[in-house]
Amino acid sequence: MRPALLDPLFAPLNSLPGIGPKAGELYARLLGRESIDDCRVIDLVFHAPHSLIDRRHQPGIARAPQGTIVTITGRVDRHQPPAPRTNQPYRVFLHDETGELALTFFRVKGNWLEKALPIDETVTVSGKVDWFNGRPSMVHPDYMVRALEAENLPLVEPVYPLTAGLSARILRKSIEAALPRIPDFPEWLDEALLEKQSFASTRDCFLTLHDPRDETDIDPQAPARRRLAYDEFLAGQLSLSLVRQRLRKVAGTPVHATATLSKPVLDALPFSLTASQVTAIGEVLKDMAGTERMLRLLQGDVGSGKTAVALMSMLAAVEAGGQAVLMAPTEILARQHFATLSKMAAPAGVTIDVLTGRTKGREREAILERIALGETQIVIGTHALFQDTVGYANLLLAVVDEQHRFGVHQRLRLTAKGISPHMLVMTATPIPRTLVLAAFGDMDVSKLTEKPAGRKPIQTVTVSTERTGEIVSRLHTALGEGKKAYWICPLVEESDASDLMSVDERFQTLKSHFGAQVGLVHGRMNGAEKDTVMLAFKTGEIRLLVATTVVEVGVDVPDATIMVIEHAERFGLAQLHQLRGRVGRGDEASTCILLYKGPLSENGRARLSILRETEDGFLIAEEDLKLRGEGELLGTRQSGTPGFRIASLEAHGDLLEIARKDAAYIIERDPELTSDRGEALRTLLYLYRRDEAIRFLRAG
Ligand code: ADP
Ligand code: MG
Repeated sequence: MRPALLDPLFAPLNSLPGIGPKAGELYARLLGRESIDDCRVIDLVFHAPHSLIDRRHQPGIARAPQGTIVTITGRVDRHQPPAPRTNQPYRVFLHDETGELALTFFRVKGNWLEKALPIDETVTVSGKVDWFNGRPSMVHPDYMVRALEAENLPLVEPVYPLTAGLSARILRKSIEAALPRIPDFPEWLDEALLEKQSFASTRDCFLTLHDPRDETDIDPQAPARRRLAYDEFLAGQLSLSLVRQRLRKVAGTPVHATATLSKPVLDALPFSLTASQVTAIGEVLKDMAGTERMLRLLQGDVGSGKTAVALMSMLAAVEAGGQAVLMAPTEILARQHFATLSKMAAPAGVTIDVLTGRTKGREREAILERIALGETQIVIGTHALFQDTVGYANLLLAVVDEQHRFGVHQRLRLTAKGISPHMLVMTATPIPRTLVLAAFGDMDVSKLTEKPAGRKPIQTVTVSTERTGEIVSRLHTALGEGKKAYWICPLVEESDASDLMSVDERFQTLKSHFGAQVGLVHGRMNGAEKDTVMLAFKTGEIRLLVATTVVEVGVDVPDATIMVIEHAERFGLAQLHQLRGRVGRGDEASTCILLYKGPLSENGRARLSILRETEDGFLIAEEDLKLRGEGELLGTRQSGTPGFRIASLEAHGDLLEIARKDAAYIIERDPELTSDRGEALRTLLYLYRRDEAIRFLRAG
């Protein structure tokens, strides 16, 4: 049960005054939740300001710099309402000892200005000053108060990330209403650490977070932010440790591979395994043979051959008389895996089934029965594999193919269901070690570092858009020699906010050069349309494919050898790497041309040159992390995983390491979190919604 202490923070967000259904939608969007029903007061407490407005500058009217925010105290002289039926503004003039200032208001209705700014009254106003023809004016001041009440004026204000439609003032009001709900938390940190890091209490840190006094308070290294980041890391590491402890406690069933099945499969493969694959398979088999459950992450770039490793691992489970499952993130990928693996595994004569949400009726029942009886030895599917209705005869290994997703928590839910096979997680996103640590704890990792033999390196060049003409004429030659090329554009539609070349416009230009050899595929087309174009590209009917990033995932046209990426400076490094991975898949040498629009920033130049220098996805990911930050690397903006609210690996990496050790120490001393500190730590887990881990405690 969540401690009652936290109840005010976990009250629905719309229990705060002023958040009705309409505003609720805006808040949900702002906080990245599906609907207002998922929003809690705590979510707003975690919504940190990104900057501040400083109104402490009070230079006097005559010395107010152009375009900056100042606070001015002066006496109201006269009102100058607009002439009737004109668009003129309403002006109110005031003066101080240095000069005169015009307060300017548009579309004024009623007489509220006369009340707010009575003549001869001394008032304090704050806002941005604009100079025009030697006269200063302030358009729609942010604040206007009588001088006597000036002390109520917030001289320093936090500025929060907003969403369209939600005003800063309203958001600030609700945050102000949320803050008093923060209770005094029991201290969950070790005293020595508090002292060493000079951490204030968590409550004080939240209050400081929302009450920045100057720029240093906004900095990620501000003491309050560091403490909150530490809390967050500790909650994450602790929950991971608890889960791992629990996983490990359920002793693994030792799986002894006999090679009776894997040998005929290996012998029949049209290639020999890479050294990386051999090593990875060795690591997996060694883990599975032990009495502890395996919990291993297999990282390998797209095309590095993870599927073969998965198959060998699954065959080991079958050799030991058990079953294995492979879970894919989507229906399509599940069926693709089923097709590939059935073919690869044919020499072993194992029974493979596919089970997804689309498997219905009799077929489903038959498969479920085969699984329950142990007749099905390998099952491939989506998360339908772990629904309650699926009962396994003897599940020894679960392989999870994450592709580009990265959600550890759903996966752990599996274990909560009491299914406890060895586990192998495969991911194509090259994840730097620090991120693995943050998301998985110290999970064991195997890496596929080499590409299957026979692949030629991809030559990568950077070219300014000014030289697009040259590229087009080189394409002429290449297409003439029978080559195939991709041309990637970043956007589907020209947006007036940017001068990006739209994919359609590019398609038209290229078509005028190359005619019917050019095809177009983008995200707005429906599935069948896309398939038709892709097929035409595969068969060679189309030789130049203009595309948006839809080709990023899953497209396999091995004889395409040229990749042109327009506005490369707008893409993330990881994404550029994925795109480039579409070529270099056959035995022909390939080229990747990164077209950039200059001038490049120093950072932009550094980013593109990394791609020129290496094809190593891990290295690229590490560099990307340094240059951009982990949020963008993982695309968390879109997917919301892995959620960190305050902590940033970039800024607080040193704290993660401490938190990891701290968590290990805690679990060793107090594995059930029953001591006083343990109780406090449970509160911490709830605060960061890591309470899933607490269920593991209760389950014993
Ligand atoms: P991913 O790691 O992206 O899942 P796959 O397992 O789909 O990669 O492998 C990509 C391609 O490389 C497949 O066509 C596969 O048959 C082939 N492949 C895998 N291992 C090797 C190897 N050792 N030598 C040559 N080709 C290989
Ligand atoms: Mg794969």
